[in-house]
Amino acid sequence: MSQKINSLDYNGTSQDLINYSDMMRDSMPSHYVPNKQKPVLHDNKVQCIFVFGARGSGKSFLIEQYAEWYYRRYITPLYLWGARSNENVFMGVNKNCGYHWNEMIGRQEKLLEMADSEIQRENIQKMLLNAKNSLHCNCRNTYPVSWLVPDYWEFSNLKQYNTCWFDKTEYIIALNDKKINKPYNELTLIQRDELDHGKLEKPRHLQTELIRVCPFTVPSNPKKSEEFGNQFLKYLLDARKEHRWLVMNPLMFLTADDKFKTISNIITRLPVWMEDHFQPNTPESVGKLRGINNSIPYNEWTKQEKNWHKAVLVFSELRTLAPTNKFSPETKSSMSKRSIVDLSAELRHKNLYLIGDLQSSEDLNESIKPLSDFVVIKNATQQLLGKEYFYFLQGIEKRRNSMLMKITHGQYVDLNKAPSQYKQYLDRFIPRIQELPVNKAFVVWHNNEYKLITVNGASWHHKQEGESLQSITRITWKLNKDQEKLQNVEEYSEQTIKPHDNSKKQNVLAVMKWCVEEFIRSSGWLEVVQNLKKKVELGELPLTSVSDLDHKTISNKIRKDDKMKSNLEIAKKMKDKPSEEIINALKW
Ligand SMILES: [Zn+2]
Repeated sequence: MSQKINSLDYNGTSQDLINYSDMMRDSMPSHYVPNKQKPVLHDNKVQCIFVFGARGSGKSFLIEQYAEWYYRRYITPLYLWGARSNENVFMGVNKNCGYHWNEMIGRQEKLLEMADSEIQRENIQKMLLNAKNSLHCNCRNTYPVSWLVPDYWEFSNLKQYNTCWFDKTEYIIALNDKKINKPYNELTLIQRDELDHGKLEKPRHLQTELIRVCPFTVPSNPKKSEEFGNQFLKYLLDARKEHRWLVMNPLMFLTADDKFKTISNIITRLPVWMEDHFQPNTPESVGKLRGINNSIPYNEWTKQEKNWHKAVLVFSELRTLAPTNKFSPETKSSMSKRSIVDLSAELRHKNLYLIGDLQSSEDLNESIKPLSDFVVIKNATQQLLGKEYFYFLQGIEKRRNSMLMKITHGQYVDLNKAPSQYKQYLDRFIPRIQELPVNKAFVVWHNNEYKLITVNGASWHHKQEGESLQSITRITWKLNKDQEKLQNVEEYSEQTIKPHDNSKKQNVLAVMKWCVEEFIRSSGWLEVVQNLKKKVELGELPLTSVSDLDHKTISNKIRKDDKMKSNLEIAKKMKDKPSEEIINALKW
């Protein structure tokens, strides 16, 4: 990190100052500085970060906030794995939630001024307080995205999305910011209608290629792997040059095999690509980048030139990529697991940062865990945190009690018996892990230091439940002609599912058959339902209507099918036998 001494009463020459800061740029203070006193993120040394927390604890808000921090420092982001919903393509989407939010608060504040009864005032105040304390999408910005997708898709409406106004709000904000000068009420009725449907073209200077589809060949054999490597490398280098996000999402793969082959191919070859193409700049190479023959001294480099050799890998839902050994060792994801374990050890030497999130610390492969610089703990139960962070959870409880003793001068030792204002006070500074608000998290370092942080999310739109990339951007995709012929598994994209498709029926039958076998292996229908969801998430079973059913409905549905019913009877008669023996005896 460069040390600034500009403010001192320095009597040397400015060249001395330049030399000094050049020499000091990677130096560290020789005394110990507590982690808490340093910024959590930095871009001068490789960082490896894991985020733990329950479902709905706001993990992806934090992941995206951190990823954006690196991106803004020109560390090339490779967001290659996320929830199966194209969630990580959303940096190309801005719904101006921040603007709408402020409008709503403004309206409530006005109502508060005009309130004519105490009850009304109290209610509005309560609403405002609630709103201000919540973690919500505050989107106000977009970034260009290079979206890696297998080449079996054909896209529509991409150009429209990249060249037209998103909606009326975007138009009004651009007007307020003086980027355009035609007031909304001067638009014709037809233009207003086009604006509402995302079809009104923007002026040239405001058009950007926000979402760029980057098709690739699935590396299913050596020849295709070579092809894939060339394509991927080109997309990666373009993304760095143009300061774009490079993203990929499991949703776009038709089969688990394609998905895991692709991701493990990338992870396995990334160290070599980094070695070959991500070397730190030199004064000469910066000159070359700028297209001139002169050398450019370090202190004149831009942030982009300084961080040219760095990249950050972002893996949301890391569990589906690197499951522990106890979690279905035979699965196809072991392909990617092996490669991620190998890669993790090399991160530091390859200028690769890593951010990953998981529900439970025990989901993470044992060999990867010790490589992290710190972990971030969001709202979680003792069970989710596992043995490893149990001490931390306990430490927080102890600290709360000792602080209670201190502030009450020994009057109270048990928070449960103390007046509620003490709990409220402690909740602000040192909340329990099990009660962490969604906008708070603990950063925990290996030496047990910790710090409570506030989560704000990133500046693009955070995908809400029930939203899809298609519904928001109007971009759609379907299988291209060649693929359609080859295709015999169920299509995942909403657009491509045909209601009378025979393969859909077969998938449902296959899933139900699996359910019968799983019922024999497991303790009951509840467990079957849970395991089914996991398998579908991992892409090992096709997504069908069956995975949305509860345990009672599934078991009823299965009993209505004669073959399934008779197989369940066979299983009942053999109930004392080992489950594999029973499964082998079934008659399909
Ligand atoms: Zn938003």
